[in-house]
Amino acid sequence: MKADRGGWRPLRREELRDELVHDSYKSKRKLSEPTYCPECNAVYHSGRWQWGAVATGAHQTLCPACRRTHDKFPAGYVTLKGEFVATNRDEILQLIRNREAHEKAEHALERIMSIEDVNDDGVLITTTGTHLARDISEAVHAAYKGELQYHYNKEENLLRASWTG
Ligand SMILES: [Zn+2]
Repeated sequence: MKADRGGWRPLRREELRDELVHDSYKSKRKLSEPTYCPECNAVYHSGRWQWGAVATGAHQTLCPACRRTHDKFPAGYVTLKGEFVATNRDEILQLIRNREAHEKAEHALERIMSIEDVNDDGVLITTTGTHLARDISEAVHAAYKGELQYHYNKEENLLRASWTG
C-alpha cells in the first residue's frame, strides 16, 4: 500500500495549520476552463475545483478527489479506537458526517472516501483531503475528549489521525 511508504513523522496539533495544503493530488498540466468532473460534477474554475453550474461545452476530466477514490489512495486516515467507539458508534459517525457536509460545501475536494470497522472497537475513516481528516478528528476530540495524535507525511501530503476514546 502506497501510504505505508516512509516519510511519516509525528506532528503536533498546533503545527497542522501551517503544514497542510489543499488539493494535493493535482494534475501536472494546467486544466482548461471550464472543465468539470463527470463523476461528481465539481467544476474547475478560477484555478480550483468547486461546486457550481456546469457550462455547456465544458471539458471533462476526473477531479483529484474522484481520482483518489478510483486509485483507492486516500490523503487522510482517521482511526478511532476504544470501547467508547464501540458503544457510541452511530453518534460519532453522525458527527463525522456533519463535519464532512460542512467542509465539503466549501472545499469540493474534501470528502469521506470510506468508513470501515476495524476489529471490535475501532473505525477507520479515509478521506480525499488532509483538511477533512483533521477536522473530523478535531471534532471528535472536542466532543468526547480522549487522546488524539497525528502523523504526517510531508512528501506526499498524507495525514494520519489516531484517536482513542
Ligand atoms: Zn469528481
